[in-house]
Amino acid sequence: MNLVLLGPPGAGKGTQAVRLAEAFGLQHLSSGDLLRAERKSGTELGRRVASYMDSGALVPDDIIVEVILARVLNPTKPAGVLLDGFPRTLAQAEALDKALANASKKVDLVVSLVVPDEPIVERITGRRVCPTCGAVYHVKTLPPAKEGVCDKDSSALVHRTDDTAEVVKERLSAYHAQTRPLEDYYRGKGLMVEVDGTADVETVFQAARREISNRVGEARA
Ligand code: ADP
Ligand code: AMP
Repeated sequence: MNLVLLGPPGAGKGTQAVRLAEAFGLQHLSSGDLLRAERKSGTELGRRVASYMDSGALVPDDIIVEVILARVLNPTKPAGVLLDGFPRTLAQAEALDKALANASKKVDLVVSLVVPDEPIVERITGRRVCPTCGAVYHVKTLPPAKEGVCDKDSSALVHRTDDTAEVVKERLSAYHAQTRPLEDYYRGKGLMVEVDGTADVETVFQAARREISNRVGEARA
């Protein structure tokens, strides 16, 4: 199965993707993580996307489509992929549908994490991430056992350079202008389910898991 997690920046997509991917045996594919990895490796592509990411704008469709589609079509897990952060524009959604259709596959369900703008700035400015395993923390609501250190592998946690109040404003406006229309696109295809993303992490997880199980199939474990 191929699932898409939709929602504004800071909605909890990455947080839930790790848990849902584990529950359903899916490969978690985060477009933001893939782009950050390109930047870290100092590739030509990484250099091309840096200024967009730092300003809070979306990177051009052709770049992200090229980065992610091959991975979607050749998942490392036979069960399929859980997309986090892609697609983010109608053109990306159409490119995804076309590529999947050519491979006799499809998007099976889109789970939208619904969170209003107000809590987003607080969530994003307090976010800390593990550069090694990708675990996501929050300094207040989901702190690690030891400040600044990942519970899982003891790496020093990082504060993303685009997780500032100024850049969040830009990311939110990109979301409203370019990504929100995807809700209607997927609703029109009968693929959209909405989950209240303002509840605590475990409650959001159980709700999303139930929707996926009911609509697509049982969790692996
Ligand atoms: P996204 O991937 O959608 O940008 P993240 O999963 O990285 O969002 O979450 C953004 C921030 O909000 C993180 O610091 C995370 O710990 C926190 N967070 C995630 N889900 C919740 C929740 N249900 N309640 C409170 N804080 C949350
Ligand atoms: P994220 O990790 O999902 O918050 O993404 C961080 C940044 O990467 C975004 O602000 C964009 O600049 C870029 N990005 C990630 N995914 C996409 C996408 N699907 N389309 C365009 N830009 C993206």
